[in-house]
Amino acid sequence: MKQFEIYRGVGQSVKLTISCLRNRGYIMHELGHLIGHYHEHQRPDRDQYIKVLYTNIPPFLRREFEKVDHEIYGKYDFESIMHYPLYYYASESMPSMAVLPNVTLPEGVDIGRQHTLSRGDWAKTNEMYKCPRSKFLK
Ligand SMILES: [Zn+2]
Repeated sequence: MKQFEIYRGVGQSVKLTISCLRNRGYIMHELGHLIGHYHEHQRPDRDQYIKVLYTNIPPFLRREFEKVDHEIYGKYDFESIMHYPLYYYASESMPSMAVLPNVTLPEGVDIGRQHTLSRGDWAKTNEMYKCPRSKFLK
């Protein structure tokens, strides 16, 4: 099943708290869900790129880090607006995720701290909705 099909023809709403309104990245993240994007760190292939450190995550929050079986669009994107920060939901200042040692991060990326869509987010959305390839993505 393609992930965006579940949203077709169904009205969606999003509730933003005042704290969300202080950061446009939060708003873009939530709107990303509305158009069918899942969290990047929950991709079925994420174990090739990151390790989830479950012992550092409170048990009631661990489901936020479980892989979700869905169709994959594009390559794993550390710069995605849909990626959590490495310390998100971590307990006692321990990271909730770690980048695997064999993975090279794009230069200057601050995982999970984006305030705008990455090129990968644009490309995945275009691919999901079969939009013509944009000049922006070439
Ligand atoms: Zn989310």
